[in-house]
Amino acid sequence: MKDNYNRNIDYLRISVIDRCNLRCIYCMPEEGISNLLPHSEILTYEEILKIVQIGVDLGIRKIRITGGEPLLRRGIVNFIENLSKIEEINDIGLTTNGVLLKSFAKDLYKAGLKRVNVSLDSLSEDKFRYITRIGNLKDVLEGVEEAYSLGLKPVKINVVVMRGINDDEILNFALWSKEVEYQIRFIEFMPIGPNSWRKELFISKDDIKRIIEKEFGKLIPVSMKKSGPAEYFILEGAKGLLGFISPLTSHICVRCNRLRLTAEGKLRPCLFSDKEVDLKQILRSGASEEILKEKIINTILQKPQGMAERPQRPMSTIGG
Ligand code: SAM
Ligand code: SF4
Repeated sequence: MKDNYNRNIDYLRISVIDRCNLRCIYCMPEEGISNLLPHSEILTYEEILKIVQIGVDLGIRKIRITGGEPLLRRGIVNFIENLSKIEEINDIGLTTNGVLLKSFAKDLYKAGLKRVNVSLDSLSEDKFRYITRIGNLKDVLEGVEEAYSLGLKPVKINVVVMRGINDDEILNFALWSKEVEYQIRFIEFMPIGPNSWRKELFISKDDIKRIIEKEFGKLIPVSMKKSGPAEYFILEGAKGLLGFISPLTSHICVRCNRLRLTAEGKLRPCLFSDKEVDLKQILRSGASEEILKEKIINTILQKPQGMAERPQRPMSTIGG
C-alpha cells in the first residue's frame, strides 16, 4: 500500500519484548526500564500473527523481529516458524544484540529466519563492556560467526558511533571489513528516548567517511537493489562492505517503507514521531478484522513526510 507521499509500505518491524539483557549506555539506564510491561500487556504471538496477516493483505512483504532483546522472549523460534509459513512474506530478519545468538542460530535458521543484524559497537572487550554495561564481547562474536557459517546472510553489524566513546574504533571496524564478509554499518547516534541523547556525542556520516578514507583511501560505492536507508561502500580488496545509515544528515525518509509495532501493540508510522495507534485495544475489544484493517490503513496514511519530532520512548521499547 502507498502512503500519502507515494512510498510503498511493505516492511513491518515487530518488537516482541521490551526487556533486555544488556544496558547500552545510549539506550537504557543502568537500572533498566522502570515501567516494564506486565506480561498481560504484551501482544501474544497469536495477536501479532493476526496483525501480520492483515498487514500482508495490505502489501507487507518483509518482517523484522526486534525488541528489547528478541531472543529473550520465550517461544521466539516457534513464532518465527509460524511467520515463515505465511507465503507472501519473502524476508524475515532479526535484530539482536547477539549475546544469545550462538545458542539460537541453528534453530532460528531451521525455523525460516533469513538473516540477522547484530548490534556491536566495539571490538575491544573493555569498551564493549563499558558501552553495554553487562555484555561479553566473545559471546557476540561467537554468535556472529555461528550465524554466518549457517548461512544467515548477509550478516549485518550495526555500529552506533559516538564521539569520544567509540569513534576511535572506526578504523578497526573498517579493517575488519577487509577480513570478513559482513556488512558493517555505521549508524548516526539519534536523539531518541529520555536518557540517551547528548549532542556532543554526535558524529556525522561524512566525518566517519573522512576518517576511513584518510587511512584506507577512497571508499568505492556499491549499488544495492534493496539497501533500505543504508548507503554501501567497499574498501579496495575487502571481503565485506561498509555501510552508512545517516538519519540526521541524509534524506532517508523519502525511501522509508516501514511501520513499527511495539511489544504492547502500538503501531507507529514513523520512528521519529510519537504518533501511535493502539491495535491491542482494538484486537482485545473483539473488533472485526475490517476495523483492524481500517486502523492500519489510517496509520499508513498518517506517516509523516519526514522526521516530525524527537520520540519520547526509549529505543528499546520502540524496537529499533
Ligand atoms: N536489542 C537488540 C539490539 O540491540 O540489536 C534490538 C533492539 S535495539 C533497540 C535496536 C537497535 O537500535 C540497535 O542496533 C541499537 O544500537 C539501536 N539504537 C538504540 N538507541 C539508539 C540511538 N539513540 N541511536 C541510534 N541507534 C540506536
Ligand atoms: Fe538492549 Fe539493544 Fe537497547 Fe542495547 S540497544 S540496551 S541491546 S535493546
